[in-house]
Parts: sequence; structure tokens; C-alpha cells
Amino acid sequence: METISKETLVGQLRDLGVRAGGVLLVHMSFREVRPVEGGPEGLIAALGEALGPEGTLAMPSATGDDETVFDPATTGNRDDLGIVADLFWRMPGVVRSPHFDAVSARGPKAEWITGGPFVLPPAAPESAIDRIRQAGGQVLLLGVGHHANTMLHLAELVGGAPYRSDFHYIDDAGREVHYGENDSCCEKFELADGWLRAEGALRAGRVGHAEARLMEAEDLVRIAAAKVKADPLIFLHGADEDCEECDEARESL
Ligand SMILES: [Zn+2]
Repeated sequence: METISKETLVGQLRDLGVRAGGVLLVHMSFREVRPVEGGPEGLIAALGEALGPEGTLAMPSATGDDETVFDPATTGNRDDLGIVADLFWRMPGVVRSPHFDAVSARGPKAEWITGGPFVLPPAAPESAIDRIRQAGGQVLLLGVGHHANTMLHLAELVGGAPYRSDFHYIDDAGREVHYGENDSCCEKFELADGWLRAEGALRAGRVGHAEARLMEAEDLVRIAAAKVKADPLIFLHGADEDCEECDEARESL
């Protein structure tokens, strides 16, 4: 496969609608994007160039380890967030939230986005995810579906989704703290794609070799929260569909 140059990547990002000076939250599978000039670092550089010096780049940086105290300087990302996000939080100039449900960011709004209050469930109003929305941010899905689109967990909460599955983390004193999280298998998050397209709120294209989708966080939360408000269980598989995670969510009601 052809290696995509950094210049082409920047052009693809701009054509898709990534705004210079904006805030951009990226969820990606590098396997879908590659090969690109400079590898994962080259892709991060292209994202930075498309955003320009006044732009802020953000990526998910939560841990998958709920048995140890989270240390933002040493605790790795959850495996499924991919190698680019795991490389990004370790880079100079990147800041990371000081709690397990972390976001990492670089740029003028990075401190504000990652420095907000620790709220539960993850992605609740005032979380880093919500601050990305408040900052007029965009969400970019690179080679991944909406199941990876964390902003939809905020939309669930805003829309009043009632289910909560049991999760825990270890606090600074070493205690196991339980909390309820609006979680499911997230497969049905893909519904958001059609909702956004119907309102002309989704831009699709190609970045590197990956299918890329870009949306305004504000549009996504507004549109999806309205759907959840109308049908609070819209993101859960039905009881007859044999989905363990969605069943657990439904059993919490
Ligand atoms: Zn499910």
C-alpha cells in the first residue's frame, strides 16, 4: 500500500473540515490509517499541523487497570485506545487528567480540558469530554466506529439514559470505590451515524487509508441526547438479542 505523505495527511484533515485553531478529539485505529510518513509520530505531527499553533489536540487516555492507583505519569492507556493515543500522552508538552478516566491534550486549551473536576460517571457534564464540547470541539473517528465515540456517553447522560453497570477504581488511599456507569456493548452507538447524516452534521472522507468521520461535539450531543430522551434504552440491544453487556445495563433498572 502507498505511504501517505504528511503533506497529504494535513490536506485530507483540512478537506474533511478540521479547523485550524480548533479543539479536536481523535479516536483511531492506526492499523486502518497506515502506512503514513513518519508512522504514528508522523500522524500526530500531521494532526498538529492541521490544527495549527492555536489548536488543541486531545485523545482518550483512560486506564484499563481498575486494580491499582492511577498515576498520570506512569499508568498506561487501556489497550483498545491504540498505539497512537498511548504514544501521545507520553510526549513532551502533552498534559493528562490526574484521574483514571483520563484525557490527554496538547495546545492552548489542554490544561483547561484536562484540569476540570473529577466527575462520575466518566464523561458526565464537566468532565474533560464535556469540556471539549464546551470549547466548541470536534470529534474525529479515524478507522473506528461510533462504538469508540466517548462523547456519546455524555449524550446518554444528558438525554437521561437510566442504566448503570457496576465499575470500580482504586482511590489514592488504596480503597476500592464502586460507581455506576452508563455502559453497554456500545454497538448501537453506530445509530448516531445515520442521525448525524440526516441532519447534515457528519463529514466523511479519507485520512491516510482510513475511513474518517468528523462531527461537531455540540451537534453530536444535541442530536443523540434528543434520541435518548425520546427512547432512553435506544442504545441497548433488546432482551432477545443475547448481549451480555446490554443485559447487565437493563438489569440495573
Ligand atoms: Zn449490546
